[in-house]
Amino acid sequence: MLRSAIKKRTYEAIYRFLDKVSPVPYDCGALCGAACCGTSETEFTGDTGDMGIYLLPGEDAVHDRADDWLRWSEHDASEYDFPASWDGKVYFVKCKDAPRCPRDKRPIQCRTFPLEPHFTPEGELVMVRCDWDLPYSCPLIDGEAKLSPDFIKATGTAWKHLIRDPLIRDLVQYDSDKRREAGGEPEVIYRI
Ligand code: SF4
Ligand code: SF4
Repeated sequence: MLRSAIKKRTYEAIYRFLDKVSPVPYDCGALCGAACCGTSETEFTGDTGDMGIYLLPGEDAVHDRADDWLRWSEHDASEYDFPASWDGKVYFVKCKDAPRCPRDKRPIQCRTFPLEPHFTPEGELVMVRCDWDLPYSCPLIDGEAKLSPDFIKATGTAWKHLIRDPLIRDLVQYDSDKRREAGGEPEVIYRI
């Protein structure tokens, strides 16, 4: 498994910090049937299909493998779309009962969506709206919804801490380069 410089207590502190914010001051899942959880109100099956979440290196420490709401698997990072420095296994989890989950246990990927960290060509860490080709539509992205300032600031602060881990920094750099190649420099939502 990939080794992380981020301790369990740091992840726990980041989780608690992000527990206090939401992207918008209403339940955006009602707009789309919680599409990013791999379900929808009209097609709810309780199974997330192929959709799932990669945990960041070391993030598994805040989860108990015995918890019955996640289905765990391990992927060899070299076989998936990760930086070359990611030499080892990564955890991939699926939510068995999506969109229901223990809110205080949501992984980082759920907590900062639809924003993502990005390095500008000058190496500045900024937050941008997720612009990957997703298998669903997110009204907060497509409609360019106004996001809560508290959420924007908190996600930036969280990622500023997370990129202290060299592997996570490599991932953000890798994704930033890919984003630039695919569509040019994205619009900056927040400068950290
Ligand atoms: S973040 Fe987007 S896709 Fe996910 S529940 Fe909210 S509006 Fe839907
Ligand atoms: S952890 Fe919760 S918010 Fe995240 S994908 Fe699973 S059900 Fe959705």
